[in-house]
Amino acid sequence: MPGSLLDQRVAVVTGAGQGIGLEIARSLRDYGAQVVLADIDAELVDKAANEIGGIGVCCDVTSEDQVHNLVAEASSKFGRLDVFVNNAGITRDASLKKMTVADFDAVIAVHLRGAWLGVREASAVMREQKSGSIINISSLSGKSGNPGQTNYSAAKAGIVGLTKAAAKEVAHHNVRVNAIQPGLIRTAMTAAMPPDVFAEREAAIPMKRAGEPAEVAGAVVFLASDLSSYVTGAVIEVGGGRNI
Ligand code: NAP
Repeated sequence: MPGSLLDQRVAVVTGAGQGIGLEIARSLRDYGAQVVLADIDAELVDKAANEIGGIGVCCDVTSEDQVHNLVAEASSKFGRLDVFVNNAGITRDASLKKMTVADFDAVIAVHLRGAWLGVREASAVMREQKSGSIINISSLSGKSGNPGQTNYSAAKAGIVGLTKAAAKEVAHHNVRVNAIQPGLIRTAMTAAMPPDVFAEREAAIPMKRAGEPAEVAGAVVFLASDLSSYVTGAVIEVGGGRNI
């Protein structure tokens, strides 16, 4: 086991049924945290929670009630809430010519409304507790913009604004809010990309490889822990040098 950096901490991760979210939950657990995994897919999240020894909760992050209940369940079960990771995400890629309003709205709802609900509900508990760390998973797509992702890039850039505004609002309660911008990471989401597009994107990365979910999780552990006690409103890029 890596250590006790997060001993006694209680962490919630959304979209934790697979991919980056599952690795984040696993790493937080490895460093000593009690983890609550949330995902829209009940079966997937139960399997993931069993696999890593956490608690699985079915939660659609676009639902105000479900996000409220997720935070209430985690904080009442453990008596506190220290870390909340807004990770759930979807893509509905298409060129502007082909993208529908439904594609746009769905992506904005999961990423931006979902993260905003998570920040609002988690910070309400953390400000009373006078401590906490909220971590929002943005994307380098929100920094540089990707063609075919006008919806996703807008949502991920919006998460940066949300992060900075919320960080300023809750800093005096000792609650920190930060964002991570992963680059190209190997998950189900990127497996859906055409192989030639994936290879082209990988070739453009200075480190010449895609990242692994555990490499995003490492940055989350840093932001979740006291190692980052004076870091708030920051955006950490985990992209192998892409778009620097
Ligand atoms: P993933 O493998 O598709 O996992 C995302 C998880 O979120 C899935 O289990 C998904 O369930 C779940 N989810 C979708 N809608 C939800 C909702 N409304 N409420 C709760 N859970 C929901 O994706 P990933 O690649 O691990 O991405 C995780 C995060 O990192 C996302 O925010 C993504 O935008 C970001 N990111 C990824 C990359 C990358 O290269 N992979 C790069 C930059 C940023 P379903 O499968 O049932 O939809």
